Order: sequence, then C-alpha cells, then structure tokens
Amino acid sequence: MAREQVFNFSAGPSVLPASALERAKADLLDYRGCGMSVMEMSHRSPMFQEIFDSTKQKLKEALSVPDSHEILFLQGGATLQFAAIPMNLIEGGTADYAVTGNFSHKAAAEAEKYGTVHVAASTADTGHDRIPAQEELRLSADAKYFYYCANNTIYGTEWQYVPRTAAPLVCDMSSDILSKPVDVSRYGLIYAGAQKNMAPAGLTVVILDKALCGRELPFTPEIMSYRTLVKHDSMLNTPPCWCIYMLGLVLDWLAEQGGVKGMEQIKRARAAKLYDFLDNSALYRAHALPGSRSDMNVTFRTDSKELDAEFVKGAAARGLVNVKGHRITGGMRASLYNAMPMEGVDALIAYMKEFERDHV
Ligand SMILES: *Cc1c(COP(=O)(O)O)cnc(C)c1O
Repeated sequence: MAREQVFNFSAGPSVLPASALERAKADLLDYRGCGMSVMEMSHRSPMFQEIFDSTKQKLKEALSVPDSHEILFLQGGATLQFAAIPMNLIEGGTADYAVTGNFSHKAAAEAEKYGTVHVAASTADTGHDRIPAQEELRLSADAKYFYYCANNTIYGTEWQYVPRTAAPLVCDMSSDILSKPVDVSRYGLIYAGAQKNMAPAGLTVVILDKALCGRELPFTPEIMSYRTLVKHDSMLNTPPCWCIYMLGLVLDWLAEQGGVKGMEQIKRARAAKLYDFLDNSALYRAHALPGSRSDMNVTFRTDSKELDAEFVKGAAARGLVNVKGHRITGGMRASLYNAMPMEGVDALIAYMKEFERDHV
C-alpha cells in the first residue's frame, strides 16, 4: 500500500527517498534469503561486513573521498563530535571557531572545556542572517584547526565558499552533505549526523584525514578516539547497523539521480524557486540575506506570529507537514533535502500564494 501523499519539510529526521524505503521494506523480514533482517544480524557476520564495506565504498565514490581520508560510521550524533573534535585535535592549544548559528555556538562552548576557543567570526548580532566573508575571518596564527558549520539548519544560511585557512578545516556538514560536490582533500575533518540528508537518526559519518590521528588528549575515552576508531574500522563496539544499511540504499538512489552533481542542480533549482517567490511577496519575508541563503533550509515569516501559526496549521491540512520554524527563531522553515521532489516546492508555493491572497 502506498503511503498517504504528504510533502515532509521536516528539518530532521527528514524525508528519505521512497525507493530506498521500498527496498528496505522488501528486505525487512528476510535479507537476501538469509532468514533474518539486517536488524537481527551480528555486526561481525560476513553478511553485515559486506553491507558495511559496500556502503563505505559507495560513500567514498559519491564524495570522491581520497585515500588520505578515512570514513567512520559512528553513534552519538553530531553533538558527540562537538566534544570529540577538540578532544582529538585541540591538543590543549587554540582553535578558531566561526559562530554562525546555534550548532556552531554549541560546538564552540563544548570546545572551551578542552582548550582555548578563538571566535574567528560571529553573526549573532544580526540574528545569524548571513555568512561572514573570507576577509572578515580573524584567524589565529597558532590555531590547531578552523571550525565552521557549512549549513545552518535553524537559521537557513549556507556557506557559499570554502574558507581559506592555514589550519586544517573542520566542518559540520550535517544538513548539506551529499547535496553538492565537495573537495574532501581540503578538509581535515568533515562530519554529519545522518538524519538530515542521508539516513535514519542514529548514525554519524566522520570523514577524517588520517594524518590527524593520534593527537587525542590523554583522558579521551577510547570510543571517542579517532585513532582507535580508525584502527578498528568503526567497530570498536557495535555500529549503528540498520542506519548503515539504509545509507547504502540512499546512496544507490543518489547514484541514479546523477550523484552529488545531480543533487546540486536540483537543490539550486528548488531553493531558487522558493526564494524568488519570497522576494516578490507582500506577505512573507526571507530571514537569510542574499548571498548567504541556504538551499537546504529556507526560513521565512510574516509580520505576525498569529498569521505564522495559521499558516503552519493550514499547510498541514494540505499535507505540507513540518513547516513550523525552530523554537529559537519562530516563523516558518521549509527544509528541502535531497529527497524533496520539485512537486513539494510547487505545492508549497501554490499554498503560499493562496494564503497571501486571503491575508493581504
Ligand atoms: C541537527 C544538527 C546537529 C545536531 O545533530 P544531532 O545528531 O542531533 O546531535 C548539529 N549540526 C547541524 C548542522 C545540524 O543540522
């Protein structure tokens, strides 16, 4: 039975490709005739090892990850990496942080426990409505790494360039990974919680330059030591098996869509349509400034909280679900992740037009 047609604009956990879910459904009770589900397999079994290895290989191909870098499949969410990164990389020294939203703010606050955080840029004074330019970044000479969040899920801003720094780049790509090509060789570490654009919640992907292993502070738990995790190929303990399997299915779908290059075209087209409508509207206004706008999370509002609430309610009645903004910002947010079809954006704009006509 097909599921009821809704367009799910949730910021995360979020929409997954229907074909990946169908495949999982077909495999659910009996994976390839082995008499059990992927959820029931030993993570040390050859069958699961094959799923693990092939998912890793597909991700390596999708992002053209060079051999200098290792892919880790971990638990603990993006939030665990807020601590793991400084524990492994700050060495009691200084790290530069660009604070462009809630998650980079949290990451910086966590890092302060393990070293000196230098705020290289902050956009807090204007409600995180933009991304700082390269010239605004105040870089410290002795930074162990430069940290930034590529896409600010809550505020709806996205870096349109890769910062140039002497220190290794560390980047939270939770909400825009796999949405465009990335030159992984420019990064010391990329990480992403899977539940925005990759797979169900429970998996965190870390892509790490192996040359950065072995710098962990002495009290770093084994389960957070990149050196240990690389050595055990993510299997120091039980990995999130089901999520890794699901990521493999999502990557199959991604390849069919033309990979990250294909995704980039689609994401630009989706977001451009919505921003264009917002910029010409008498009722709504976009939060993020042009030049800093996210293709993944489009944030907007009317001038009235009551109207915003009515908008969200009316949207849900039409099957346009989860368009309420984050509790920090209020307003609305349409998350346009990889699996959101253009028809979802068209349906949202059609509703927005109607709502505008009835309320101005
Ligand atoms: C959702 C999100 C996080 C937090 O992820 P958890 O997996 O819940 O810890 C961190 N950074 C970004 C950019 C996010 O979108």
